[in-house]
Amino acid sequence: MMGNAFIHFDNVSKAFGVMTVVDNLELAIQQGEFVSMLGPSGSGKTTLLMMLAGFEAPSSGSISVKGKRVDALPPYKRNMGVVFQNYALFPHMTVAENVAFPLKMRGVSRSETAERVGKALDMVQLGQFHERRPSQLSGGQQQRVALARALVFEPEVVLMDEPLGALDKKLREQMQMDIRDIHHRLGLTIVFVTHDQAEALTMSDRIAIFNHGKIEQIGKPSEIYDRPTTQFVAEFIGETN
Ligand code: ADP
Repeated sequence: MMGNAFIHFDNVSKAFGVMTVVDNLELAIQQGEFVSMLGPSGSGKTTLLMMLAGFEAPSSGSISVKGKRVDALPPYKRNMGVVFQNYALFPHMTVAENVAFPLKMRGVSRSETAERVGKALDMVQLGQFHERRPSQLSGGQQQRVALARALVFEPEVVLMDEPLGALDKKLREQMQMDIRDIHHRLGLTIVFVTHDQAEALTMSDRIAIFNHGKIEQIGKPSEIYDRPTTQFVAEFIGETN
């Protein structure tokens, strides 16, 4: 099972100075899965995502995708789309220019850029908004631009860190559905970081509950909610339920 996982963290630890923030972690994710990392602030969720994206290196252990080690590769060689809470669109650029930005950085030709940008904006149903500025869009639309930018290289894996944290409740629920829809349509593997239980519950195929750099329990939402296996999980889940 572990051996043929699509994404595999094998005994991964990460320390900053004397502080271990990810602690001997094992995690196997299958292709096409939507897996949420859920847990209190400071439990290591973002650090895990950063190591998968290539913005942080593990202190020990290995990370593989499709059976190949990726932990020594720079981010741009991993072909993973990344969406963060602070999606930081460039305000002076149009929607199309924002989405084209990663392509420009990599020297992709004009014609290929036009084609990829068109396709990415269609995927998030923003086909008519190419020439708008971010300030002329709603929060949800801006977040979809950020998603289009993450999809522009047609990655198989998309990493999201609290991507909906800045949105109000209604927009958030709409975006949750949009992201689920895109996940299904494109057959993406999504690793999603959140501290919002309801969000993890409605969106995920599986949820990993983090505590102090370790996964306390991983399973389908119904398993986590109906059969917590540790005191910590029971209390964490119980808190806002
Ligand atoms: P979470 O996403 O669960 O809130 P993080 O992975 O962001 O947790 O952080 C885990 C711990 O690691 C926190 O105590 C945080 O302060 C610390 N940390 C994260 N990044 C760094 C860094 N670059 N340098 C030092 N400490 C860090």
